[in-house]
Amino acid sequence: MPEQQADDNAEIREELLAVVRKFRDEKIIPFAAHFDEADEYPEAIVEGMKELGLFGITVPPEYGGLGLDILTYAQIVEELAYGWMSVSGFLNTHFMGCYLIKTFGTDEQKARLLPKMATGEIRGAYSLSEPDAGSDVASIRTKAVRDGDVYVVNGTKMWLTNGREAGLVVTLVRTDPDPASKHRGMSVLLVEKEPGPTYQGITVGPNIHKLGYRGVETVELTFDDHKVPAANLLGGEEGQGFFQMMSAVELGRINISARAVGVARRAFEESIRYAQQRETFGRPIAQHQAIQFKLAEMGTKLHAARLMCYDAAQRKARGERCDLEAGMAKYFASEACWEICQEALRIHGGNGYAAEYPIERLYRDAPLMIVGEGTNEIQKMVIGRRLIEDHAI
Ligand SMILES: Cc1cc2nc3c(=O)[nH]c(=O)nc-3n(C[C@H](O)[C@H](O)[C@H](O)COP(=O)(O)OP(=O)(O)OC[C@H]3O[C@@H](n4cnc5c(N)ncnc54)[C@H](O)[C@@H]3O)c2cc1C
Repeated sequence: MPEQQADDNAEIREELLAVVRKFRDEKIIPFAAHFDEADEYPEAIVEGMKELGLFGITVPPEYGGLGLDILTYAQIVEELAYGWMSVSGFLNTHFMGCYLIKTFGTDEQKARLLPKMATGEIRGAYSLSEPDAGSDVASIRTKAVRDGDVYVVNGTKMWLTNGREAGLVVTLVRTDPDPASKHRGMSVLLVEKEPGPTYQGITVGPNIHKLGYRGVETVELTFDDHKVPAANLLGGEEGQGFFQMMSAVELGRINISARAVGVARRAFEESIRYAQQRETFGRPIAQHQAIQFKLAEMGTKLHAARLMCYDAAQRKARGERCDLEAGMAKYFASEACWEICQEALRIHGGNGYAAEYPIERLYRDAPLMIVGEGTNEIQKMVIGRRLIEDHAI
C-alpha cells in the first residue's frame, strides 16, 4: 500500500482500535480465564469478531472487506492479544489465507472466496507443517496427483491452528514426486471443507493438549484420497507453492511480533500496577530498587519490540521488502515477551503462580511465539544470511 494511503488510514485506525479495545475489555478479558481453563472454543467471541468485521480487515473493499493496511492489522492483533493471546490466533491463519488469495489467486478464486472470508462465513487455516516436517519445509510428503479436473490428495498435515472450524485450508502439497524437484515441486491447494471432524476424505484429529494458546484448536489433519478441484490450485500454476507460502509467513511473523507485544504489554502493566499495591518491609515493592530495575528492563524491551513490530508492518504496508525486519521483529519481540512474562511472574511472587492472576496464563502463552511461524533458531539463520548478503565484501 502506498505511504499516503497508509497515512489516510490513521483516523479509521484510531476509531477501529477504540472499538476493538471496548470489545476486548467487555467480551474477552472477563471470560479469558474460563475459556483457557476449560480449553473451550469461545463461540461468542468469534461471533463478535465477525460482527465487528475483523475477519475482513485487510480484504479489499471490492470483495467486501475493510481494505486496511498491515499496521492497522498489527495494532488490532496487539490489542486482542493483550486481552487473550488465543483470540489473535483466530485471525492469523485466516489473514494469511486472505493474503495468499488476494496476492496470488486467480480472478475466479478471489471473487468466489474473498467475500465469504471477509465476513468470516468462511474461516481460514494455513497448513504447512507435517509430523516429520516443520522447519525443513521442503521435506513435506503430502502429495496431490492430478487426475483430470481434480487433484487427489493423500498425507498427514500437523499443527493446524483453526483446523477444525476452518472452511478453507490453504495447504502446501507436493505436486512433483521427483525428490530432486525439492522447493519447485510444491504447490498450494485451496482445500474447501465444512467445519467439523470429517469431510469427504478429510479427518481432523482431536485437539492437541497444549501448555497455553488454549481455546483455539490446534489439530492434525489427514487426507485420504480427498479430491480438490483443479480450479483450486492457487494462482492456477503448479510449482509456486513454496514461494507463495513463504511470502505469507513474512506476514505471520509480523502477526507474531504484534501478539508478543500485546502479551508483553499486559504482563508489564499488570506488574507495574501490582508493584505499587503490594507492600513488603513497610513500603510498596515498586520502591525497592531491584523491582524498579526489573520494570525498567521490561518497559525498555517492550518499547523496542513495539517499534520493531510497527516498523516491519509499515515497510510491508509500503510494499517494501521486509523479510529481514519481520524476522528481526518476530525474534526480538518473542524473546522479549518471554523474558517480560518471567519477570512479571517474579514481581507477583506467589500470586504469579496462581491462576487467579493473569500472569500465570501469559507465562504459558508466551513460549508459543518463540516456536510459531518459524522457530527463533530459524529466524536467526534467515537474519544472519540476509545480513551477510547485505554486507558482502
Ligand atoms: C500451538 C502451535 C500452533 C501451530 N500452528 C501451525 C499452523 O497453523 N500451521 C502450520 O503449518 N504450522 C503450525 N505450527 C507448527 C510450527 O510452525 C512448527 O512447530 C515450527 O515451525 C517448528 O517445526 P517443528 O515443530 O517440526 O520443529 P523442528 O523443525 O523439528 O525443530 C526442532 C528444533 O530444531 C531446531 N532446528 C531445526 N532446524 C535447524 C537448523 N537448521 N539449525 C538450527 N536449529 C534447527 C528448531 O529451531 C527447534 O528448536 C504450530 C505449532 C504450534 C506449537
